[in-house]
Amino acid sequence: MSIGGNIEYIQDLKKKAAERSGRSGDDVLLVAVTKLHSTDEINEAIHCGITDIGENKVQEIMDKYDRVEPVRWHLIGHLQTNKVKYIIDKVSMIHSVDSLKLAQEINKRAQQHGLVMDILIQVNSAMEESKFGITTEETGELIGQILETCPNVRIRGLMCIAPFEDNPDDARVYFAEVKKLYDKYGQIDHPMLDFKYLSMGMSNDFEVAIEEGSNLIRVGTSIFGARDYSKKMG
Ligand SMILES: *Cc1c(COP(=O)(O)O)cnc(C)c1O
Repeated sequence: MSIGGNIEYIQDLKKKAAERSGRSGDDVLLVAVTKLHSTDEINEAIHCGITDIGENKVQEIMDKYDRVEPVRWHLIGHLQTNKVKYIIDKVSMIHSVDSLKLAQEINKRAQQHGLVMDILIQVNSAMEESKFGITTEETGELIGQILETCPNVRIRGLMCIAPFEDNPDDARVYFAEVKKLYDKYGQIDHPMLDFKYLSMGMSNDFEVAIEEGSNLIRVGTSIFGARDYSKKMG
């Protein structure tokens, strides 16, 4: 299948899953995850209608940025505080905020550039030790601390990576739990909290994630094929 054909196929599955949850396909944003894929492939996806791309490494964004056509960039992977400065003026949203320290660094760099950065709080509802993200119990406290100390950071919602399950139905409980938090904390009345995105679902589980309330899916493999981890992108 071509990249364009794959995108069409994903858009169709996305639409059907959204309709199963009482919404329309347009209510769910498809972010194409382009890590380890070439700028030619990325530009092809953009020509096929992709408006948002996700990368998980700062270095890869830096390497590709000038050769990719205008598009919204999302930082979806773990972000080290000392690298925030490289991407602060390049990405439109950071999905992986899981500490006050990181939020404060984003705030500082955003202030220097005279901008407000949109962020999501990464929640690890499965509490796998190998993954990043805060616990469901810590979520409210972190949101409160960010609102108190980071005037140039706007909290737009939550993100979660479910554990990989052979049967994606088994991930349903994790998505449902984060949806509950999304509904709860989205009620907070504060100028710098404006929930719009619940970022859940990857190639393996995006249909289930949408059924459980996701409105932003991050899909790589199903669009571009398997990633070649032996390859370093330049
Ligand atoms: C790689 C990645 C994805 C996409 O995964 P696929 O299985 O290729 O769709 C989504 N989210 C994050 C955070 C990732 O690192």
